Amino acid sequence: MPNILVLAEHDSGQLKQATLSAVAFAHKMVAEAGGSFDILLVGENMSGTAEGLRQYGASTVLVADYAQLKHPLGDKYAQIIADVAKERGVSMVVGAASTFSKDILPRAAALLDAGMLSDVIDVRTADGDVIFKRVMFAGNVIATVKLDGDVKFLTVRAAAFAHPPKASAPSPVVTLRVEVDRLPAFSQYGGRENKLTSRPDSTEARVVVSGGRAIRNAEDFERLIGGLADALGAAVGSSRALVDAGVTPNSLQVGQTGKIVAPDLYIAVGISGAIQHLAGMKDTKVIVAINKDPDAPIFEVADFGLVGDAYQVLPELVQKLGK
Ligand SMILES: Cc1cc2nc3c(=O)[nH]c(=O)nc-3n(C[C@H](O)[C@H](O)[C@H](O)COP(=O)(O)OP(=O)(O)OC[C@H]3O[C@@H](n4cnc5c(N)ncnc54)[C@H](O)[C@@H]3O)c2cc1C
Repeated sequence: MPNILVLAEHDSGQLKQATLSAVAFAHKMVAEAGGSFDILLVGENMSGTAEGLRQYGASTVLVADYAQLKHPLGDKYAQIIADVAKERGVSMVVGAASTFSKDILPRAAALLDAGMLSDVIDVRTADGDVIFKRVMFAGNVIATVKLDGDVKFLTVRAAAFAHPPKASAPSPVVTLRVEVDRLPAFSQYGGRENKLTSRPDSTEARVVVSGGRAIRNAEDFERLIGGLADALGAAVGSSRALVDAGVTPNSLQVGQTGKIVAPDLYIAVGISGAIQHLAGMKDTKVIVAINKDPDAPIFEVADFGLVGDAYQVLPELVQKLGK
């Protein structure tokens, strides 16, 4: 029976919603194969975050809470995960498919000489084996795989696992003792540049408005894409074409080499629909495309399409939404 460890992801104590998909995966796994799961939270001043995690049915919420763990440095976090997994006889370590987990979990897997699967979208058991489905080649292939080894590491796609039910009784919180001064120190925290924005993160938002090469410069992006996003309380995103042109920052890029988003509504403005872009947003529930070319490939995946010039359509839309 699996003994699962779910890695909680947070930003300075603010829990990332994608964590709940990893918890939902653990619920599904336990329902299929029995066993239980713990949630591991690493950081500084984690009591409030730990409290919030008690409602999801974990056997325990394990907390490593130290000033030295304030920043998610991959080498330190990976060592903690590997140590916890080893000490507690964990058979599966799960995180959300995010930049955070991509940095940390493969290192932890390597420390335990364990196998790792990323972008898992389904799991089932058959004849005692655990069988996973995972996305490959920018979403064009879905592979069905088994993973050898006593410990399995995986990341799961947020859109594939709905958020978990709340448990009737809160999980106990267990504080972990970590010899923080003996953790690896290959990397040092150098600082972080935060763009102050009131807009939500595109990986967390229910609505994302994304702009593509149709948008000519940063001012137009802010006015048109930002304007529509603000009218909808949405996050903004961008195709790589705009990132490469220096119009938008890398942090906004959606796609194979950018962020994977799965909102309720994705509005693609002046984006052609290259497979590398679709790889980052095609799990969206409803896709709306605005493009002046009626033959643009984005319309093949869109639920609703509007053929028109972004420079005319967006101001009109914002005005109508304002009313
Ligand atoms: C290895 C690799 C990884 C990649 N990763 C990513 C990734 O993560 N994300 C990503 O986005 N791309 C990625 N790409 C690039 C991808 O292949 C495309 O080049 C890119 O997505 C195109 O961006 P676009 O749709 O904005 O631009 P274009 O393909 O140039 O499309 C612009 C669209 O705007 C429309 N348009 C023009 N003017 C207007 C107007 N006034 N009003 C309305 N519509 C208008 C046009 O009809 C056209 O459909 C990657 C490529 C490679 C090779």
